[in-house]
Amino acid sequence: MVAIVGRSNVGKSTLLNALIGSKIAIVSPKPQTTRHIIHGVLHDDRGQIVFVDTPGVFKHAPDRLTARLNEKVKEALSGIDAVVYVVDATRHVGDEERIVHRLVAVMDKPKILVFNKADRKQPFKDEYLAWQEEFDDVIEVSALQGTSLKRLVDAVFAVLPESVALYPADQITNIENRFWVEEIIREKIYMAMDKEIPYTTAVKVESTEERPNGLVYVKAFIMTTSPRYKKMIIGHGGAKIREIGSAARYELEAVTGKKIFLDIEVVVEERWMERFE
Ligand code: GDP
Ligand code: MG
Repeated sequence: MVAIVGRSNVGKSTLLNALIGSKIAIVSPKPQTTRHIIHGVLHDDRGQIVFVDTPGVFKHAPDRLTARLNEKVKEALSGIDAVVYVVDATRHVGDEERIVHRLVAVMDKPKILVFNKADRKQPFKDEYLAWQEEFDDVIEVSALQGTSLKRLVDAVFAVLPESVALYPADQITNIENRFWVEEIIREKIYMAMDKEIPYTTAVKVESTEERPNGLVYVKAFIMTTSPRYKKMIIGHGGAKIREIGSAARYELEAVTGKKIFLDIEVVVEERWMERFE
């Protein structure tokens, strides 16, 4: 388990997606609002690396930051085996960066300092290199262009302890990653429906909950802009929505190895963009 930490906007989510080769984390030019901890699992002949993205952790005002390290974040950082500290040397070291650095400094784990955005000029590199002694390795990458990612993966494998596999061989993220579940449902809508429908719909996963019996209960909404579309998505006697639901469930179960109960509701929501979030 490897935590990817760093100030907001340094490219942590972009890096995670590039490493996994799939869009499992939301990339945004604005600070993230996601409250879920995203695991990105990299599979390789040498084993697997579970990268842990910590979205929304470091986005708050510096003075409130430490107080904001809530249970979720502690949970994300407990049990990790190494830290990838991502910095962006196109910008000065600021207050937020100093606080993240302090958190990293007290972690008693192997650490790799990653200069991201190597495709751009790095005028403030020296400010970050002042910390280099604390790190086992220093690597320059461009998450956007996919440069030197292999070097980073090699460096991570070099510091990771051996352990049992935490994920099945074909699973690339955790079920709590709503974005990923939404993408899977969205894909099944594309496959089941005519072209015009998907553009008028959005998928939102409201909750994922693992029950004591091991069943994962997922509540999702398909939001569409008109009653006519809603009828089409549901289909004759519910045939379409069943087709979409079972295709999505099948894939989620295959990939997670868990039993999934997928509860999908189709709602007309003209302004679905504003409803959630
Ligand atoms: P996070 O907040 O640390 O997760 O950062 P994001 O992954 O959401 O990325 C923030 C912004 O930086 C986005 O606009 C990305 O496109 C951009 N970005 C990420 N990696 C790179 C990179 O290697 N080079 C450049 N030029 N931009 C990048
Ligand atoms: Mg992010």
